[in-house]
Amino acid sequence: HQQKQQPLIEAHQAATQLYHHILMNTKLGEVARKYLAERQVSADMIEQFNLGFAPGDQVLQSFFAERKTDYQTLRKTGLFIEDQDGNLKDRFANRLMFPIKNANGAVVGFSGRLLQISDSLPKYLNSPETELFNKRRVLYNYDVARKAARKSQRLLLLEGFMDVISAMQAGIDFGVASMGTSLTEEQIYDLKRVTSNVDICYDGDVPGQKAINRAVSLLEQTTQFNIGVIQIPGGMDPDEYRRKYGAAGLQKIVKTGREPVIKFRLRYLRSQFNLEQETEKIEYAKQATKLIATLDSSVERGVYLKDLATDLDFDQASLQEQCEQDRKRQRTEPRQFNHVVEVSEPLQREQ
Ligand code: ATP
Ligand code: MN
Ligand code: MN
Ligand code: MN
Repeated sequence: HQQKQQPLIEAHQAATQLYHHILMNTKLGEVARKYLAERQVSADMIEQFNLGFAPGDQVLQSFFAERKTDYQTLRKTGLFIEDQDGNLKDRFANRLMFPIKNANGAVVGFSGRLLQISDSLPKYLNSPETELFNKRRVLYNYDVARKAARKSQRLLLLEGFMDVISAMQAGIDFGVASMGTSLTEEQIYDLKRVTSNVDICYDGDVPGQKAINRAVSLLEQTTQFNIGVIQIPGGMDPDEYRRKYGAAGLQKIVKTGREPVIKFRLRYLRSQFNLEQETEKIEYAKQATKLIATLDSSVERGVYLKDLATDLDFDQASLQEQCEQDRKRQRTEPRQFNHVVEVSEPLQREQ
């Protein structure tokens, strides 16, 4: 297995270095250097994440041809598109390149971002599935974050690569991101191997809220986590927030902005209803008490029920009674996890 993957890993290493060299030292890379400067990505981060630029013009194809790299190896990298005659053309052109590493820090794929958004091309293009690259499995920056989490005792789940880099630039080294897809069970296992404390800090826009809700549900269904939600205000994503409020601003919100899942859940639920309508108000109240009923602490239940009563101008005692009924019902159908994850299970070696 390891033997078979070695040539592919070497090809990814070489491609990483080439793209990085083009970004840093060539005229072709100038446009991308400017782009990164405008986005306030520091030189340190460009180095640490080994960012690069794919200019097009078949640079990768020429590079490997010169090195006489084996054709079958090149095919299997996924870094090329194959035409009908089997000719290989660079998959990534005019894109800022993010090397994607596995848990051991070996580059196993790329994501490339257009410098200018276009209608006809996807903003981010990922490597296809290969022997090395499994999109469901990989988490951006996992190799670094899993070590950093020994100190932080928490992982931060972010939406995008630029959010991970922005957080790192602000000294937050325990951030990871999935590959633009919603969180998968495979990724959740890898989170759990590191820590049970996972804080979700997705984009503050509407799709971000939906994604938080989905991620929370999946985390809760899979195994026992201590989940927090960090809500970025103003519809911004963490990277935009850092650019607006500086590293200190992002640090502060990550340090102190963590709210328990119940708070997010109630707010998200509330946003689904038109509270001007009495029937919807009642329906929201019913569903909210159900959520509150899942809390084990009666003090906490009291706090949220009081808030709910005030918010809706409903009678608190009635909400409380409803909540007790919900609890009795929930007790007869105990919570079940889909899977049991052994925390002692060693990290899977991928290389
Ligand atoms: P940027 O700041 O560079 O615009 P972003 O991370 O803020 O990027 P979002 O639009 O918030 O971009 O999307 C979040 C993540 O979803 C991206 O980082 C990327 O992984 C993924 N993504 C976005 N658009 C696409 C796409 N067209 N194809 C594949 N993945 C995508
Ligand atoms: Mn988004
Ligand atoms: Mn962004
Ligand atoms: Mn975003």
